[in-house]
Amino acid sequence: MNIDSDKIAKLRELLSAPAQRIVIVTHTNPDGDAIGSSLAWKRVLESQGHTVTCLVPNRYPSFLEWMEGIGEVGIFKEDKEGVLAARVREAQIVFCLDFNQISRLENLSDVLMENTAAPRVLIDHHLNPPLEEYALAFSHPESCSTAFLVYKIIESYAGIDLIDTAMGEGLYVGMMTDTGNFSFSNLTPELYRSVAVLLEKGIDIPRINVSVYNSYSEGRVRLLGYSIYQKMGVIQHGTVAYIALKESELRRFDFQLGDSEGFVNYPLSIKSIRMSAMFLQTRKFIRVSLRSRGDVDVNLFARRYFNGGGHKNAAGGKSFTTVEQTVEYYKKCVAEFFAGEKKE
Ligand code: 5GP
Ligand code: MN
Repeated sequence: MNIDSDKIAKLRELLSAPAQRIVIVTHTNPDGDAIGSSLAWKRVLESQGHTVTCLVPNRYPSFLEWMEGIGEVGIFKEDKEGVLAARVREAQIVFCLDFNQISRLENLSDVLMENTAAPRVLIDHHLNPPLEEYALAFSHPESCSTAFLVYKIIESYAGIDLIDTAMGEGLYVGMMTDTGNFSFSNLTPELYRSVAVLLEKGIDIPRINVSVYNSYSEGRVRLLGYSIYQKMGVIQHGTVAYIALKESELRRFDFQLGDSEGFVNYPLSIKSIRMSAMFLQTRKFIRVSLRSRGDVDVNLFARRYFNGGGHKNAAGGKSFTTVEQTVEYYKKCVAEFFAGEKKE
């Protein structure tokens, strides 16, 4: 993966003034890549003498709570006194990590757009970012994760000597979670070389694995069992699956934010399944998560039917009707989406 040297020069220029106030923002429902890449990039900027605040629109999942520096991440939804809004207004540079559209930041979007003085720098691997929103954009959809992209930027911008153990952990968490523990696409020799470097920096992979993947609550594990045994629907001649969970069901299992992370992947472990959807009812809307394998393009599906987007094999969107109506609508969309294929 090539990082444009002109862009690195521009980055250098932006960061050349000493001791700037910098804000790093990442997406709503932040995941391991969002948090890991943000924490690592914060340490890089701090090592250059800047003052850096990491911000997220809402809380991160509890399986990331062990990460160094996560306690200082500002949660915008919980910003009662307006301290974090002031940081955004006073920021001299804003880094946008692991998302492409400012509008995906929900409550954080408006204050961010109000600060027209600070240049915005995008570091992201999603498709089709609106480039006009950024002064500088490192947009690499071919990267497995934003964390790997941050690694490559560090390599060009400062050299890998700068990477310490905590940065290495952040970068590894991002790479690991966005690749499904190194099992999805975009697994390049270069990625594994970067992991080798992170190991040299002292990251403890077994400990990171246990912290991220084996630290669930009993309710979460039971909810997973229930979701698959009782709630998984299989349609389209055994090739498409879905799981829909209502708020009342979530309450039964003492649901905590992030508990359903990864559920959508399980149906894809069935040999014949090519696409899987998860519908999660929240107070305001139904969160739609889509996963696929091979040529099935769920980015297209999410854009066409659920006003969303993402990557070819992992995308999401929203639905504003009931759970029942959403599932019915999904079934119709699936029939339409795959109708073209049958004729071939
Ligand atoms: P998840 O299912 O893990 O929430 O999201 C999977 C992927 O789809 C992520 O890369 C995420 O950025 C993208 N995504 C999820 N929801 C939306 C949405 O509402 N709009 C867009 N454009 N992308 C989304
Ligand atoms: Mn990501």
